Amino acid sequence: MSTKLLMLHRVQDETPMAFGLPDCYRLRGTSLTPSEFSQLLDGQRKILCIADVERALLNESPLPPGTVLTFDDGYQEHLARVVPMLVERSAEAIFYVSTGLHADSRRSAVVDAWYWLLDHAQQPIASIHLPDGREFRRRLDNLKDKNWWILGTAKQALLEATPTVQAEMLSELAESISCQLPDQLSSELYLSISDWQTLIDAGMQIGAHGVTHQRLSQLTDQALTAEIRGSLKVVQRYSYHARFAFADGAYDQRAIEELRQCAVLSAVTCESGAVSAESELLRLPRLFLTPKM
Ligand SMILES: [Zn+2]
Repeated sequence: MSTKLLMLHRVQDETPMAFGLPDCYRLRGTSLTPSEFSQLLDGQRKILCIADVERALLNESPLPPGTVLTFDDGYQEHLARVVPMLVERSAEAIFYVSTGLHADSRRSAVVDAWYWLLDHAQQPIASIHLPDGREFRRRLDNLKDKNWWILGTAKQALLEATPTVQAEMLSELAESISCQLPDQLSSELYLSISDWQTLIDAGMQIGAHGVTHQRLSQLTDQALTAEIRGSLKVVQRYSYHARFAFADGAYDQRAIEELRQCAVLSAVTCESGAVSAESELLRLPRLFLTPKM
């Protein structure tokens, strides 16, 4: 039996969104229903905590067989739905939060905003200009085209763009589908800061996921340091141990070096695989779990 870190995001009911289609998280594969999550929990031989894995790698002792549950992005339902299911089974998980994105922050991760717009579109055709000058007009009222908006060229360009261009792309998309991002999107999506303490009180761990969920490898040295140190500083008010998850799994040697200087115990990537004796604590692989649709 292997040692695995599972990468999880949302646990929510399937609710039809714009044009009766599944929501973007579900289509992207980052949302499980509560009953799928319950089955997942019940199917694990042993649920470990991340410290078990860290200890084994640090001491070069045999890895404990089992599964570590990791949740990214600090969504509301982590406390409302996930934690009660874990507590019921005496299991724990680590929740990585972007410390500048929480219920009261009035800002959200670019992907969450993109998905919200696609899920609430009032018009069936959306249009977007990419930074390289290409222009796309594409439908949003069928699965194939909605999937393109979630996985295709425009979404990739969005993730690779600077924050200024990302904002422009979001407003162009919004305008084309007669839709406006709510001012309170962050409180609709994310936990509040006080909820992070509640997670810990319930026996969970929290880790840092940057301040504003930006891809570290695309940032200047100064911005990279601010994302890492800024988020660790906040999380360490709640948790003595410093742990980190790379937003979108993006990192480079500068990021690893910065984490090392901050004495971070472990960092998780989106590189797929089980943990092995050769795994490095600051770039642990995870398994991306997608629902069977
Ligand atoms: Zn994330």
